[in-house]
Amino acid sequence: MALGTCRTVLITGCSRGIGLGLVQEFLTRSPTPDLVIATCRHPDQAQELQQLKEHHQHLRILQLDILCEDSIKKVVQEVEVLVGEQGLNCLINNAGINRLATLESVTAKDMLTIYETNTVAQLMVSKAFLPLLRKAACQDAVMGIHRAAIINVSSQTASMQLFFQNKKSQEVYPYRISKTALNMITCCLAADLISDGILCISLHPGWIKTDMGGSKAPLQLKEAIPAILNVLANLREKDHGAFLDWKGEVIPW
Ligand code: NDP
Repeated sequence: MALGTCRTVLITGCSRGIGLGLVQEFLTRSPTPDLVIATCRHPDQAQELQQLKEHHQHLRILQLDILCEDSIKKVVQEVEVLVGEQGLNCLINNAGINRLATLESVTAKDMLTIYETNTVAQLMVSKAFLPLLRKAACQDAVMGIHRAAIINVSSQTASMQLFFQNKKSQEVYPYRISKTALNMITCCLAADLISDGILCISLHPGWIKTDMGGSKAPLQLKEAIPAILNVLANLREKDHGAFLDWKGEVIPW
């Protein structure tokens, strides 16, 4: 599936896992975006990402710790120089953390740590990139990642409705609550940014074998990532404000 004319895409948390997989896939799809901006906390330590740079001139690697206000400010300035008046087409808020905690073991610190990364930081990053997304949105009329989009990488475990159906897996208090709150951010952004033409969704990437997903996960990156890019490439106005999975199926909130 082609990516249309998505000129620029920025992904957070690209040192490993799904973020790295998305970067690899964007770089090898046709047509390749003019610019794939891969951000991570420690570029010098992100060896696989650095290796990609040797073969892909469309790749830029920038430092971004989504918890650090100064780091966010700096990366926005750097991206502004890179994208110019064309703006940024697609922001993928992928970086995230997990920590297992049951009702018995969960602490306030667990809750706040995960909330800060998986929820607050995602909003702050989106907010900081709005001017560049708005620039890009002005240049097209049809919603999609070729125009302007914010993709919040969420999780199926955040679904309240699925929880009421299954009522299990209670080991992830901090994580699932942080992602449910992230989903509300998607809803609020979708309401606020419809007039700008910036498409916003929450995306469940599938349960994938990564450091976070663990070895029991049924999906390999090589299976899920191309499917995710198909979903992204086909996003249109009808999907604005939706919660989708890696196959493009709607997940109930
Ligand atoms: P990994 O743990 O493999 O990778 C997480 C990535 O996020 C790393 O690149 C990490 O960087 C980065 N990161 C964490 N904190 C920060 C920060 N403060 N600033 C910048 N980057 C940060 O996770 P996955 O690749 O599996 O997950 C990616 C996303 O997908 C997450 O949002 C996760 O919640 C979601 N997800 C994953 C599922 C799965 O099965 N794998 C299922 C559902 C959702 P560093 O290397 O520096 O630590």
